[in-house]
Amino acid sequence: MDMMKKIPVREQDPKVRATNFQEVCYGYNEEEAVLEASRCLNCKNARCIAGCPVKIDIPTFISQVKEKDYLAAANTIAKSSALPAVCGRVCPQESQCEGQCVRGIKGEAISIGKLERFVADWSREHGFVPEAASEKKGKKVAVIGSGPAGLTCAGDLAKLGYDVTIFEALHEPGGVLTYGIPEFRLPKQAVVQPEIENVRKLGVKIETNVIIGKSVTIDELMDEEGFSAIFIGSGAGLPRFMGIPGENANGVFSANEYLTRSNLMKAFRDDYDTPIVAGKKVVVVGGGNVAMDAARTALRLGAEVHIVYRRSEKELPARAEEVHHAKEEGIIFDLLTNPVEILTDDKGWVKGVVVRKMELGEPDASGRRRPVEVEGSDYTIDVDTVIMALGTSPNPLISSTTDGLETNKHRCIVANEENGQTSREGVFAGGDAVTGAATVILAMEAGRAGARGIDEYLSRK
Ligand SMILES: Cc1cc2nc3c(=O)[nH]c(=O)nc-3n(C[C@H](O)[C@H](O)[C@H](O)COP(=O)(O)OP(=O)(O)OC[C@H]3O[C@@H](n4cnc5c(N)ncnc54)[C@H](O)[C@@H]3O)c2cc1C
Ligand code: SF4
Repeated sequence: MDMMKKIPVREQDPKVRATNFQEVCYGYNEEEAVLEASRCLNCKNARCIAGCPVKIDIPTFISQVKEKDYLAAANTIAKSSALPAVCGRVCPQESQCEGQCVRGIKGEAISIGKLERFVADWSREHGFVPEAASEKKGKKVAVIGSGPAGLTCAGDLAKLGYDVTIFEALHEPGGVLTYGIPEFRLPKQAVVQPEIENVRKLGVKIETNVIIGKSVTIDELMDEEGFSAIFIGSGAGLPRFMGIPGENANGVFSANEYLTRSNLMKAFRDDYDTPIVAGKKVVVVGGGNVAMDAARTALRLGAEVHIVYRRSEKELPARAEEVHHAKEEGIIFDLLTNPVEILTDDKGWVKGVVVRKMELGEPDASGRRRPVEVEGSDYTIDVDTVIMALGTSPNPLISSTTDGLETNKHRCIVANEENGQTSREGVFAGGDAVTGAATVILAMEAGRAGARGIDEYLSRK
């Protein structure tokens, strides 16, 4: 064994997986996990912990894997993370814990994410249940939204003894984990649901089909239903569009709608009554994780798929692993290209996209080189479906129905990073609703901060 190199992880063959929705990555088996754990240097100054937003004690759990004490490893991780099987699969480890790993200086970083996933999958298969609180506080807290921010906040508060109810607008809990990230990256029944069940086992109640701001307001929850504090973890689900001609045509989707129809409404299964106009030739506009997920979903639904992105490969914001998987599966990348018009047929359906070539100029405010249009370079790609994956912002429903709740110019709720406190007393917030679209682990960290803030607030009352 070469101690400088990662133990490779087994994956589904790209040609086979391009036609199914089963998970791409198989993860480590026990033997592979123990071998990979044995590469860890168990550093005294463990830089990997500094790179983890929720500060998992990484060297300790890895040494427990090496000793084959998987239950101890699960307990170590559970102290910091309520969703390890999710994070082990979707966290951008290469820029967090693994990006800081000392092993990575001269060789390849330890596969911390794959080891976390191994422990989480082992503990689920062996019926590991997190400990519920023994003493109750006798105070009710409402959590709005059941994504990673809401689930983490609710789980932490339940462990402290609060009576917690999550209100979720959709008919299934999980937020983006359920409706956004596709099955082939994050299996719903096998992985997401059991982690949500673990939060329920801590005593958290989850009420679905309740839209806060419509079914009931924050003021009513506090004044009439006896909730002493509220955590808003309502995410950033409102899609952005380009504002180009033809964008209202039939066959133009936001990535959110396309993925929700596939993931939540199971459009890819013949036994469900909620179909999707899948498309035969699809353009996905954008270069982030959402664009990769939409493109790889369209591919699996039978389409030829182009990703149209206005910068170069170097600037693609998606995780390197996702870009690599998308290429392996046959997604075509039209880089340094930007749509300027969507063409329609006489019935109003998409029949093509006019795109313009771009080149990179001077860096802009984000530090990335600004794309500049190349005059006279327009050409048309014949397609029947266009999916816009240009980012999202928070839905203003809650802020517009809650007096005194401050938001910024991006419609994000203004909240203290340390404790989630908003401009309204007793109301806390975190996750994408505060930061705009970000990551699972940052939403979890914000949920944790919100739980701390609520506990301090209610302990003072
Ligand atoms: C397609 C896609 C792929 C992604 N891939 C990755 C990835 O690989 N790695 C990564 O780290 N991150 C990824 N992300 C980002 C990540 O999923 C989000 O940053 C994270 O889920 C945010 O968590 P949250 O709890 O703040 O919000 P969400 O997960 O959005 O959950 C918010 C919940 O609140 C509910 N809600 C909204 N309004 C109301 C209301 N008025 N009343 C009641 N309920 C309400 C929503 O229905 C939703 O269930 C991806 C996002 C998308 C869309
Ligand atoms: S930095 Fe890398 S080698 Fe060091 S303890 Fe963390 S995972 Fe192990």
